[in-house]
Amino acid sequence: MELRDREVNYRALQSRDARFDGLIFVGVKSTGVYCRPICPARTPKSKNCTFFASAAAAQDAGFRPCLRCRPETAPDLASWRGTSNTVSRALALIGEGALDGDGAKIEKLAERLGVGERQLRRLFLQHLGASPVSVAQTRRVLFAKQLIHETRMPMTEIALAAGFGSVRRFNETFQNLFQRPPSALRRRTSASSANVNDGITLRLRYRPPYDWRSIIGFLQARAIPEVEVVENEHYFRTVAMDGSAGTIDVSHQPERQNICVRIRFPNVRSLPAIVARVRRQFDISADIETIDAHLSNDPFLAPLVAKRPGLRAPGGWDGFELAVRAVLGQQISVTAARRLAEQMVVLHGKPVPNAYVAHSGLSRAFPTAERLASVKSLGLGMPGARLAALKALATAAVADPSLFRQAGTIQETIERLKAIRGVGEWTAQYIALRAVREMDAFPSTDVGLLRSAAMVGRSAAITSQVLLNRAESWRPWRAYAAQHLWAADPTLLQEKGPNV
Ligand SMILES: [Zn+2]
Repeated sequence: MELRDREVNYRALQSRDARFDGLIFVGVKSTGVYCRPICPARTPKSKNCTFFASAAAAQDAGFRPCLRCRPETAPDLASWRGTSNTVSRALALIGEGALDGDGAKIEKLAERLGVGERQLRRLFLQHLGASPVSVAQTRRVLFAKQLIHETRMPMTEIALAAGFGSVRRFNETFQNLFQRPPSALRRRTSASSANVNDGITLRLRYRPPYDWRSIIGFLQARAIPEVEVVENEHYFRTVAMDGSAGTIDVSHQPERQNICVRIRFPNVRSLPAIVARVRRQFDISADIETIDAHLSNDPFLAPLVAKRPGLRAPGGWDGFELAVRAVLGQQISVTAARRLAEQMVVLHGKPVPNAYVAHSGLSRAFPTAERLASVKSLGLGMPGARLAALKALATAAVADPSLFRQAGTIQETIERLKAIRGVGEWTAQYIALRAVREMDAFPSTDVGLLRSAAMVGRSAAITSQVLLNRAESWRPWRAYAAQHLWAADPTLLQEKGPNV
């Protein structure tokens, strides 16, 4: 598939226009390479250029990734392209390795998404110009390439981490693409003498602007002791996945437009899933310029957007954890909710081995649903109804591992969550917003939102119905509007309320 608007795309390439980075990829016939529009190499002749909507489409057409502009470091906007919910969900699953390994089948992926295999292929072609299998293959190549360039990991580990079934297949793929073994791509300059035990560091590029101060402040106010620490504008947290535990350290490099993540984790196969979660939590893939421009159309929101350009909607690290936080936070202050969460972590969280601990304030992983569902008493001092709600939540999460994934419409997601005992409309909307990443979710009954909206509109009070009506024009990004409203009220954290 080639993108239309050749002339616009070519002009973007000639001017190395960063606004097109991540949105188009250009295949160059004379060299067989595909590039980002910002490639520092000499601009190829127009007749040699083919423009693609995704790296996978370029690779499908027989082009290999450029070693200079490194397409693997382009901002990842794939999930934003088009409006297909199915494609976004499929991309999230592929990002976590759903099509890696020998047993992985496209039929299974289609089944998880509730669509036919043929329909899934058709949607991928329409939105990305490549098949799901090509997208998965490209993702493996690009992730491996990033690990080769940015880390000192041995090649055998990179093969596993990137999801290649075997080292032999990894070598073959790179030999075919680049006519040389993967190790030959490692530049000597990347040989920072960093100790391998310090973990591996990856840079995730975003499209500017990025309001780092707001998101780090948001996370700091809600940090659960032993699981999360915010210090010197770094976010540290414990990570439990696939039976192992480790930590991450996330920081900002504004001059390079990167979110930098250092991962200390015993199992390299978990790397793609960890990176996918960091992307989600820090909302790295948002097409923020488009969102800010859209919200600024409403004079009510425009001053808020102007005050905090690039404000992101933080995602939950884990759906179950987020839902537990939401229930713990019902009717009590953020500070009190943190204390309860800490108690629960100390009682039920699994310790992280010392070798992987990045900060002395971290010690345990957030408790799993299995643990909370099976333990006789949670041992927490809180009302019986909310203890029962926690239990019900844990049981539901064990029964349905996809509980916190997008499936169907927002309304269906909300109804599915509300079927859990103790989960009401507000909690369901909040989980949808942060954990399921429904960017149009909007907890219109939230007291903080209502108060902030009244303050911004200079009125004494505002009802949730009025706020809902007002929010119609903010679709499909009401989650960002909510974030702007919450951010506008500095006193929110001291209040009792559900703003977890
Ligand atoms: Zn290039």
